[in-house]
Amino acid sequence: MIIAVDGPTASGKGTIAARLAAHYGLKRLDTGALYRAVGLAALDAGADPADENAAVAAAEALDLGAIDEARIRTSAAGVAASHVAAIPAVRAVLRRAQRAFAADPKGAVLDGRDIGTVICPDATVKLFVTASLPVRTQRRLAELRARGEQISYADLERQIADRDARDMNRKDSPLRPASDAHLLDTTDLSIEAAVEAARRIVDTALAQPGA
Ligand code: C5P
Repeated sequence: MIIAVDGPTASGKGTIAARLAAHYGLKRLDTGALYRAVGLAALDAGADPADENAAVAAAEALDLGAIDEARIRTSAAGVAASHVAAIPAVRAVLRRAQRAFAADPKGAVLDGRDIGTVICPDATVKLFVTASLPVRTQRRLAELRARGEQISYADLERQIADRDARDMNRKDSPLRPASDAHLLDTTDLSIEAAVEAARRIVDTALAQPGA
């Protein structure tokens, strides 16, 4: 079984994907972490993340087992990620890694922006998780502050809106729901309620004939 979880930043998709993976006994890939690691590697090399040669070199050198979880979670790494993510050659390199992960016969949960549309178009169940911009900004602000990063609400809201626009408007694999995705708006939901709603969607989909 493949579960695809897509949506914009801080929509709750990462938490939902992790909890679904634990519940159904599947491994999980946070594909945003790959783009963040590539963006960060480009920055570390002193390059502009929008520079194709530097970004592709960083993608080709990426070691999935050596991603620095703390360093990729900064807002700067998120912005760099959305720049490298707009480069088709970078997406091609990371597509291979994501499809190899999804090819495990035991199945998997993958979360990102284009899992249901491009990476796993035949996924067993597809979720598209959203939430309002103010709620997403508030959630990300709490997360960043807990990690010790200082950023104002206004700056972060602008940064997230810019990132959404880049993700939705790029030519290659833009952020959008697959036509057969189940929409889940978490704006007014607690984490528990959102996870429960996601589980119900998956269970209902699995109960359909042919699932
Ligand atoms: O989900 P997260 O905020 O960690 O993703 C960081 C950035 O990586 C996104 O803004 C997006 O530009 C890019 N991304 C992508 N495709 C994915 C996952 C992430 O383009 N499947």
